[in-house]
Amino acid sequence: MNQKNNILFLGTGTSTGVPMIGCSCPVCCSADSRDKRWRTSAVVEYQNKKFQIDIGPDFRAQMLHYGIMDFDALLLTHEHKNHVAGFDDIRALNVMNQKRYPIYASKSCFDNTLEQFPYIAKNPNYDLVPKFDFHEIKGGQSFNHDGVDIMPIDITHGNLSILGFRFGALTYITDASLITSESIEKIRGTKILVINALRYEKHATHFTVNEALECIDKIQPEQAYLLHFSHQIGTHEEVSRKLPQNVFMAYDGLRVEF
Ligand SMILES: [Zn+2]
Ligand SMILES: [Zn+2]
Ligand SMILES: [Zn+2]
Repeated sequence: MNQKNNILFLGTGTSTGVPMIGCSCPVCCSADSRDKRWRTSAVVEYQNKKFQIDIGPDFRAQMLHYGIMDFDALLLTHEHKNHVAGFDDIRALNVMNQKRYPIYASKSCFDNTLEQFPYIAKNPNYDLVPKFDFHEIKGGQSFNHDGVDIMPIDITHGNLSILGFRFGALTYITDASLITSESIEKIRGTKILVINALRYEKHATHFTVNEALECIDKIQPEQAYLLHFSHQIGTHEEVSRKLPQNVFMAYDGLRVEF
C-alpha cells in the first residue's frame, strides 16, 4: 500500500520535557494535552520507508504510545542526551524484528553517542547490546537508503555542528542556533519546514521564537512547524495565537502530510 509522505511528531519538548519535574508554573500545570511534551523526536514516512529521527529518553514510551513496531533506519541529528538517551532500547526491536538497524549520523555524533554507552562499544557482539550498522553522512552530501534520497544539512547548535534532514518537500531542523546562508540555500524550496524555537528570551544554543520566524522568513516555506519548546514559552494556546498564519506550534502526536 502506498502511504502518503508524512511526519509524526513523537515529542516536541526541550531537554527537560514539559511539564518539567518540580515545576508548578501555569504551563506545567496546564490541562491542555498539547502542553504535555516528550523530548523532541519524530518519525518521517517518505517514499514508503520509515525514518526515525533521534532516539531520546522517551523513545520507549513514544514507540508504545504510537504503536510503532519497526522502522527502516535511524537518523541522528546530534549526540545530546535528550536526543540519544534511548539508544539501548534498540535491543527490543532487534529481538522482535530479527534485524539490525541502519544508523545514519555524522562520525562525531556517532562516536560521541557510543561514548555514552561504553558497554556497547566494549562488547558489540554480546547478546544484550543493540545491533546496528553505522553509516557516516555529511552535511550537503545526499545519501541513499534503500532507494530513498535524503539530504543532511549542516546546522550550528552553539559550538556544535549538527545535522538537519531534507526529505524532498519537508525539512526537519532541531536545536539550531544559526543556519548559514549555504545551508539556507539547501533548504530553499521546501514546502514544510520544521524548526526549533525554545522560548522568547535569548538562549546561547537554541533559536528563540523570533529567530525561528526570521529563518522561516528567509526560507519562505508554505507552512512551518515549531518544536523543542521550553515550559518558559507559554501555553500552546497562547503562543499559537501570536504566530503568523502559516506557522504552527507542533505538539506531540501531530501528523502532517507532505
Ligand atoms: Zn513550568
Ligand atoms: Zn542539543
Ligand atoms: Zn535538543
